[in-house]
Amino acid sequence: MTGRSRPRGAYTASPCPACRAPKRSRWYLCGHCWNALPEPVRTALNLHDDQAHRRLRELHAHIAAGLPLGQLEINP
Ligand SMILES: [Zn+2]
Repeated sequence: MTGRSRPRGAYTASPCPACRAPKRSRWYLCGHCWNALPEPVRTALNLHDDQAHRRLRELHAHIAAGLPLGQLEINP
């Protein structure tokens, strides 16, 4: 079950963008997907500076490309 047939936002305003599982609203990903990210990426994504939105776009572009989360690289 991929959840792809589920109407967008039917159960939560912001499901995990990678696997569509419900996640906490302030998290970028659900816990499972977050733990799949390389440690340096998680550290970078946890920073809330003026580059935070750019990093989030890189994360979403990576997911949209269908690449494994463990291969994500983000410039800090
Ligand atoms: Zn997920």
